[in-house]
Amino acid sequence: MSNLAAEPEFEQAYTELASTLENSSLFEKNPEYRTALKVASIPERIIQFRVVWEDDAGNLQVNRGYRVQFNSALGPYKGGLRLHPTVNLSILKFLGFEQIFKNALTGLMMGGGKGGADFDPKGKTDAEIRRFCVSFMRELSRHIGAETDVPAGDIGVGGREIGYMFGTYRKERNKFEGVLTGKGLDFGGSLIRPEATGYGLIYYVSHMLEYAGAGGWSGKRVAISGSGNVAQYAALKAIELGATVVSLSDSKGALVAVGDGAVTPADIEAIMDLKVKRQSLTAYSSNAGLKYIEGARPWLHVGKVDIVLPCATQNEVSKEEAEGVVAAGARFVAEGSNMGCTQEAINVFEAERKEKKGEAIWYAPGKAANCGGVAVSGLEMAQNSQRLQWTSEEVDQKLKDIMKNAFTLGLNTAKEYVKSVEGELPSLVAGSNIAGFVKVAKAM
Ligand code: GLU
Repeated sequence: MSNLAAEPEFEQAYTELASTLENSSLFEKNPEYRTALKVASIPERIIQFRVVWEDDAGNLQVNRGYRVQFNSALGPYKGGLRLHPTVNLSILKFLGFEQIFKNALTGLMMGGGKGGADFDPKGKTDAEIRRFCVSFMRELSRHIGAETDVPAGDIGVGGREIGYMFGTYRKERNKFEGVLTGKGLDFGGSLIRPEATGYGLIYYVSHMLEYAGAGGWSGKRVAISGSGNVAQYAALKAIELGATVVSLSDSKGALVAVGDGAVTPADIEAIMDLKVKRQSLTAYSSNAGLKYIEGARPWLHVGKVDIVLPCATQNEVSKEEAEGVVAAGARFVAEGSNMGCTQEAINVFEAERKEKKGEAIWYAPGKAANCGGVAVSGLEMAQNSQRLQWTSEEVDQKLKDIMKNAFTLGLNTAKEYVKSVEGELPSLVAGSNIAGFVKVAKAM
């Protein structure tokens, strides 16, 4: 029996990666990589601290703050900050671990890390959020820096929170440097950073469609979960390319299309406003073609779909839901969220891929499909180092190239290391895991 505390989310992420390495020819070819995996499974450093802040009524409140500095073999620790009441060390270790290999897949020089706090932004005023962010960064600022560790946003942390934190870092350290990404355009941010994760996801899936000979986006029905930054821009890009988006969701319920209904760009703009005010989708009722289902996730309520994009949080697709979307005819699943699918759901998709060969469902893991967000963070770091701001077109083109490379690398690595039968689509989960891991192991 282990003397360590149970870390279910981290163990899930570790086992998912390790099992795909184990089931490939990687360790046969490179036995020394077993040790590299063992070493890489322990964070280089974890910082834990208390965050004391004052609410609007003048009462002191306290939360737990963290930064997991997981691996710096490829560059400064890089990864977001999550503010959510469920945040604990297991969740941040899983996210930090995923981030190491995701960042490697971008081809940019970034290590992996993650941080955050068990602070709940819901129901807080802007002033309370500002006081929390200032207090959080007064401590975190001692441990990060443009060449050391560069945090960004994740769930609960957007441009506003990054702004409060950047201002605090500048004052605490008397330094203006690219220490955070996702900054406002007026103080060192990059164009396309807000859109990057969602757009990158759609660019990645475009390569899956093309490789599988499934045509373009036009006429495809796309189920999306979540309604935050990733879901919003994935939906907008899918609609721009001619697809029909049939769902969005949040922690309280799902909005799904009825009949010929669909999510429109106007819906997404209105939902962006709701979310900035930290309101839930229950408050949205402007499109008669959508119905709201309380307490539900969208997957079993969307009818026939072609493409499934989990874009909310971890473990949001169960085994039953995976079987449901397969039965509804879905051919492509790609995670905009980190570890969006449970291991049981991945097993359903991977078994289908093998059995049904070319006509089966094809699953892409978050560490490949959602790497566009952190990739543009890497481009923001590059712009900050140059003291330049690139145009939208330049950043978008680089994002497209990075997503293409992440797809091709995963695909080719699967062909090299994983046994397959004639006509089978290569395993993007195994290929991406192996490709990311090999890059980090070599650097270590
Ligand atoms: N939180 C995002 C992710 O999961 C972005 C991290 C970053 O930009 O550093 O990849």
